[in-house]
Amino acid sequence: MTYLADLFIDGVWRPGSGGERFDVVDPADLSVITRFAVATEADCMAAVDAAAAAQEGWAATAPRERGELLRAAYDVLTAEVDQFAEIIVRENGKSWVDAVGEANYAKEFFRWFAEEAVRIPGEYRLSPAGDKRIVVDRQPIGVALLITPWNFPAAMATRKLAPALAAGCTTILKPARETPLTAAYMVEVLRRVGVPDGVVNLVTPVPTGPLVAKMIDRPEVRKLSFTGSTEVGRDLLHACADSVVSASMELGGNAPLIVLPSADMDVTIEGTLTAKMRNGGAACTAANRIYVHSSRHDEFVGRLATELAALSVGPGLDRSRQVGALVSTAERDKVAAIVDTAVAEGATLVQGGKSSELGAFYDVTLLTDVRHGSSVNTVEIFGPVVAVVRYDDVDEVVRMANDTIYGLMAYVFGEEREAVAVARRLEAGMVAVNRGVVSDPAAPFGGVKQSGLGREGSSDGILEFLEEKYIALSAG
Ligand code: ADP
Repeated sequence: MTYLADLFIDGVWRPGSGGERFDVVDPADLSVITRFAVATEADCMAAVDAAAAAQEGWAATAPRERGELLRAAYDVLTAEVDQFAEIIVRENGKSWVDAVGEANYAKEFFRWFAEEAVRIPGEYRLSPAGDKRIVVDRQPIGVALLITPWNFPAAMATRKLAPALAAGCTTILKPARETPLTAAYMVEVLRRVGVPDGVVNLVTPVPTGPLVAKMIDRPEVRKLSFTGSTEVGRDLLHACADSVVSASMELGGNAPLIVLPSADMDVTIEGTLTAKMRNGGAACTAANRIYVHSSRHDEFVGRLATELAALSVGPGLDRSRQVGALVSTAERDKVAAIVDTAVAEGATLVQGGKSSELGAFYDVTLLTDVRHGSSVNTVEIFGPVVAVVRYDDVDEVVRMANDTIYGLMAYVFGEEREAVAVARRLEAGMVAVNRGVVSDPAAPFGGVKQSGLGREGSSDGILEFLEEKYIALSAG
């Protein structure tokens, strides 16, 4: 397969103006897949110029036209799902089933927002004093900078591109350095279906931080939509403050998964496997802290250990594997260090706990006797590691679950009424009850506390890219 590995600015694929490139590495065997163009400051400014020049025209296109372009992109991604998944596997390392799952999830944002483009709401009412008519219009906010991480290189991009384009915003997509090829492929799909020049641009700046800050500084850039770590998100919020840029933030998580005494163990084991092992654990929604009631602890651990032992770790292109590689050896080493520290702090290593010699693989790992508040319980593991904490009391487990700066995702397993009562008490933007996955383009995705600001997907997602304009008309 050949890969697009250039910048896309004003409708043209082009190398960076400095002529430099960086390696894109296959984490399964550490080979270099290709070398991607480095965007210089001049390239980043050219992308802002192109997006700014295209903004007025794109905002003026009929909503139906914007929607139909998104729908056409959905159709292409449906027809090319194997190619799409292969690009994701090569640069990200995830398993084939995870890559196909991501490809299908990613394309759904194009379909969902194709349908939302024609449903942008407005308001019309008489003022209370009866002296004027209040008209509230919703207009595209302007040029949007979209920054995405490597763990879901397709879905995090479409979750931003689709609502931005549906709203009538022009865009600059900045993918993670580890995974630019998926982004380039999707941008090419948007070009192929006829999205006009300048409406979608792709840059991969080096160094990232200073050049992103320079783009945010440009007065034409009116929106930042970021998915990544809380640390980087905080820095970007500072950068946005300087030019009062609207920011939507999907940041880190530390999801608790609570098994109540009343849990159905078949449902719980299946849900836990999905909540933890989907994407090899590299998801901000992944179950990071597993709290199991003492009365069900041994049964849970025994059954989970059997299921985990049956998972096979290996290259994603080998479609029989359930768990792929981590994105890089650096990420693998981070996971290894988290496990080693957990064991040093008193956790019991039931199985796993080793890195592979070749490729960025890490064993499926199960830790028990984990203490609430120990280091494995406070950091985002981002790997195939299950860390089980035992608890005795429901009030206590709610307190422990909320004892974190994060508030993205939580899972509760138990009799439905009881589980929903617990869900209501959890400080999280999303709670899954008796299931392991929540993501759906039609539902609002986002966190509370230091897990983020704003929501993506659902009817709210498009509002992040729209600004209200109030027009006062006389009553008569
Ligand atoms: P992750 O843990 O998912 O790698 P990061 O926050 O490091 O999360 O990266 C998410 C995205 O933010 C990537 O596209 C990355 O290149 C980008 N990024 C990293 N550092 C900065 C920075 N200082 N300013 C802007 N973007 C950054």
